[in-house]
Order: sequence, then C-alpha cells, then structure tokens
Amino acid sequence: MASKLLINIRNTLIVAMIMAWAGYIAYEWKHHQGVQTLRDEAETRLSVVSANLLAPAGKYSYLPGIIAAHPSTIQILLDKHNPATVHAGNLFLQQLNTDARLAVVYLIDHTGLTIAASNWQEQKTFIGHNYSYRPYFQDALKDGVGKFYAMGTISLVPGYYLSSAVKKDGVVLGVLAIKINMDKLDFIQHTNDAEVSVTDENGIAFLSTLESWKYRPIVPLSAEAEKKVKSTRQYEGVLKSVLPASLKKTLDSDEKIINIAQADASAEDNQWTQYLMRSGQFPGSPWMVHVFVPMKPVNLAALRFAVLTVVMLGLFLLAMMYLLETRSRIGERERSRRALQDAHQALEQQHKELEALSEDLRIVSITDSLTGAYNRRYFLDVVGKLANAVNHPGYALSIMMIDVDYFKRINDVYGHPTGDKVLQLLTAACKEILRADDVFARFGGEEFIVAFPDTDEHAARQLAERLRSNIMERTFEVNGQVLALTVSCGISRYRFTETGMDETIKRADEALYEAKSSGRNRVVVFV
Ligand code: GH3
Ligand code: MG
Ligand code: MG
Repeated sequence: MASKLLINIRNTLIVAMIMAWAGYIAYEWKHHQGVQTLRDEAETRLSVVSANLLAPAGKYSYLPGIIAAHPSTIQILLDKHNPATVHAGNLFLQQLNTDARLAVVYLIDHTGLTIAASNWQEQKTFIGHNYSYRPYFQDALKDGVGKFYAMGTISLVPGYYLSSAVKKDGVVLGVLAIKINMDKLDFIQHTNDAEVSVTDENGIAFLSTLESWKYRPIVPLSAEAEKKVKSTRQYEGVLKSVLPASLKKTLDSDEKIINIAQADASAEDNQWTQYLMRSGQFPGSPWMVHVFVPMKPVNLAALRFAVLTVVMLGLFLLAMMYLLETRSRIGERERSRRALQDAHQALEQQHKELEALSEDLRIVSITDSLTGAYNRRYFLDVVGKLANAVNHPGYALSIMMIDVDYFKRINDVYGHPTGDKVLQLLTAACKEILRADDVFARFGGEEFIVAFPDTDEHAARQLAERLRSNIMERTFEVNGQVLALTVSCGISRYRFTETGMDETIKRADEALYEAKSSGRNRVVVFV
C-alpha cells in the first residue's frame, strides 16, 4: 500500500518534470523565434528611422548654396557695418525662413561672427555669437559646403546645420548656415508602437518618442562625461537621472533585451516594460539612434505556446494513461474470467467425481457384495414401490422365493469358497434366464427372491419352471470340478387388499417350504 503510494508520487513527479521541461523548451523555442522576428523588425525600423531623420538634411542640402549665391546675402557681408544693410539682411533671412519653414537661417562673417539671422528679434538670437569653432563653419570655409548635426548651444534644440561659403569674385566673405530643428519625432509616433531615442556622444537621450525618456542618459554617465556635460552647460536644468533600465540579455553588440521602468527605479509598484533595443550610429555624427520594440507580444506568444504545449502534452499523457489503464483492466478482466472458468471446470470435475463416487456408493448400497445381485434391502424397497404403484385390482405382481437344495453338502464336500463361487455362478445363470424387467435379489444365505412385475401366478409358474429346469440341466464348474444342483421355488401373488409386501413374501416362503417338504426341485404356488 505504502509502496504503491510512493510509486504514484514518483510517477506524478516524473510527469510533472516532463511537462515542466516541455513547457520550458516550448517557451524558449517560441521566444527565440519571436526574438529573431523582432530583431529583423527592429533592424528595419532603425533604418527607417535613420532615413527619416536624415531626410530633411537631404531635402535642404541645396538651400544654403542658393541663399549664399543671392546678391542680397553678398551685399550684407560686404556692408556688414552698416546697420541698415544688416537690418535689411535680417528681414531677408527672416522671410526666407518663413517660406522654407526652417528653424534658423543665419549669416556668419569670415571670422565666425554671426552678422544677421532670421531670429534677429528673438531673445536667443544667434547674432553676435561666434561659431568659428563649429565644424560646419570650418568645412564651408575650406570646402565650400558643410554639414553637421549638433545640439544648439543657445537653443538646446538639436538640429542639422547645413552651410555654404558666400563668395565674391572667388573670395570667401563668410558662411551662410541654416539650422533644421530635430526636436520632434512625429513621423515615428504615428507609424508604430516602437519607441525611439537619439542619444548624444555622452549617451544622453536628447530626442525621444517618450517625453519621460528625454534628457536621460541611457547608461550612467562616466565621471569624464559628467564633467564635460557640466562644463558645457549643455543640458543645464533639464538633465534627469539615468533611465531606470536593467539589461536582460545581450544579443549582439548593438542589440539587447532590456527592462525599462515607467517611473524611477526607486518608485514602488514600478511597471517594467521589456524591449528589444537596437542601436545604430547616426550617419555623420557621434549620435546613436535607438529603437525599442516591445517584447510583450513575443513573451505572450511564447507563454501561450508553452501553456498550449503543456496542455496538449498533459492531454496526451492522460489519454495514454487511460489507454494503459483500460488495457490492464481488460487484461485483469480476462485473467479473472479465465480463473473463474478454471474454477468452474475444477468444480465440474469434482462434481462428476462425486457423482461417480455416489453412484458407486449407491451401487454398493443396493448390491450384494458376493454375487453382485441386488440385496434384500433394495429388493424390499423396490417391491414396496411396485406395490404402491399397483392401484387397480387387475394388476398382477408375483413373488418367487428360490432356495438351493442341499447346499450345505456343497460347502461340506467342496469347501466354503467353492460354495461362494457356486452362488456367484448361480446368480449369473438366474439373471440370464430371467427377463430384463424381473427384479432378482439375494435374500440371504443361499436364498434368492424374484419380483415379476405385470405377471400373474400362472405366468410366474411358467417362468419358475423354466428357471428350475434350466438350473437342473446346467453344470457349474468350479476349479475343474463339475457340480450339478437343483432349486426349489415358492410363488405367491400380491393381493390388491394387502398394504405391503410382507404378507406376499411370507406366502411365497410358505410355498417354498411346501416345495422343500414335498421333495425339492419343484415349484409350489400359494396364491
Ligand atoms: P435344504 O435347503 O435342501 O433343506 O438343505 P440345505 O443344505 O440347503 O439346508 P439349509 O438351508 O439349512 O442350509 C443352508 C446352508 O447354506 C447353510 C450354510 O452353511 C450355507 N450357506 C449360507 N450362506 C452361505 C454362503 O454365503 N456361502 C456358503 N458357502 N455357504 C452358505
Ligand atoms: Mg436355505
Ligand atoms: Mg437350502
């Protein structure tokens, strides 16, 4: 009982382990597949985002050259100390800016000083600022054109800076620059559910589809970077703590699975969202573009697949167990059926043996052991029943007593065993002579009795005569000795008025006595 329980527990544990293992494998497999799909998706998105971010730069690339070549532009630089010229220049640039819908259009002299700008009226106007250190200025002086992505030092708005040298008769007078603001990522927000961030050389996100991720370093700043950021006062007042993110897995140098908290890491009941983060260098700048594709659908699909696998496996195992159980139950039933059959056969055999035994016993109980003839008890039983059956006066039932004449002499002369043998031979002879329906029995000693059913005293006498003469004419051979003998017979007939056979037998006995006393070897009838 206890061992069966242990086996059950063990089997349950094995099944549970198999199912857990299958669930794990299914989850990992589906998850891996999902991640592969997501990686492709992230890669595509990254290129789309990069292309979109780069698009304005391409779109406006011609513009600085055209403005630089405009006579008004050249005139401003030639007459830069005349406030009226500069004012007219400011208006000219402001008008251009409005038409082209750019962020800022501005004119820098050959020293790097901003002479005129479309934002001349604004508080944060570029006028008066020296941009000689800006690569786009230096490149334009050197190569005629320049292109640069940077965070605006005054506006703190990131942008593309496109520039072109302003020349007069082959002499460079200054640089015309335009800035296109990059403070919005509208084109991403409406197209998909992925998040996008653009980080600067220090890893600080200055652009993001999520406002809460903006101005946050995506990894903690190094001491050096922190110092640099502080000294340039680039994000003064807007810089926030590091993005609360934890790395889950690195798939590639620029591909990671990360968890990002909705709120700060310290917040309680923080909601973590898992993303596949794909990063790429922003062309022509030290910036990085990061695409964050949510992992939730992949995780959910993997979980669903794992659950489905476990359920299917569970059902399969249940079906198998049921099948095995049914099979063993069928086997059990077959075995018990066979056992029952065997028991039944054994019982039947036993019954037959008992029947045979009881038949033997019955025969023993009704026969005389020496001669094999019916015994006295059986005879009385049978004739009693016969007498009961005789229920009408016309029915005849006769009784005959037989006694061997001078039998004592046979014993005396040949010995008792020979006498026994003679009795056996005599029995056989009588059975042979009598009819099948006649009931022959040994009545005691060398006395025999016969019941003749449906036979009256006359017929009985004839049968008795036939028997007597037959015996008389016979020889009985025992141990090489030939013996002859005779019998005396006494006959009576059952009377309808009598209640039993006692009277009838008594009369037959009296008839026998008469036969003896009147000479033996004869038949006497007492009706
Ligand atoms: P009768 O009847 O003609 O008057 O003469 P009997 O010699 O037959 O006389 P009785 O009937 O008195 O004797 C019967 C004898 O039968 C006596 C007994 O020794 C013998 N006897 C009875 N039963 C058996 C038996 O089973 N076997 C042998 N061998 N002898 C038996
Ligand atoms: Mg006798
Ligand atoms: Mg006798």
